[in-house]
Amino acid sequence: MSFSKSGLHCLNCEQSERETPLLHLHYNGDELWICSQCLPTLIHAPQKLIGKLKNAEQIRPAAQHKH
Ligand SMILES: [Zn+2]
Repeated sequence: MSFSKSGLHCLNCEQSERETPLLHLHYNGDELWICSQCLPTLIHAPQKLIGKLKNAEQIRPAAQHKH
């Protein structure tokens, strides 16, 4: 398989931009892409991205709304 710069993939589930909308992130000087399905994980449970996203352990989850 050839490596193409145009082949953008979600950092978590690795879906490509052809399969799902990808959102562009900047973090620690890196440019990253995450798909709309994985964005809630980044917001609410960033610890699940440890190992996939560098320094994910430093991201604080968004505050949960309490009802
Ligand atoms: Zn994804």
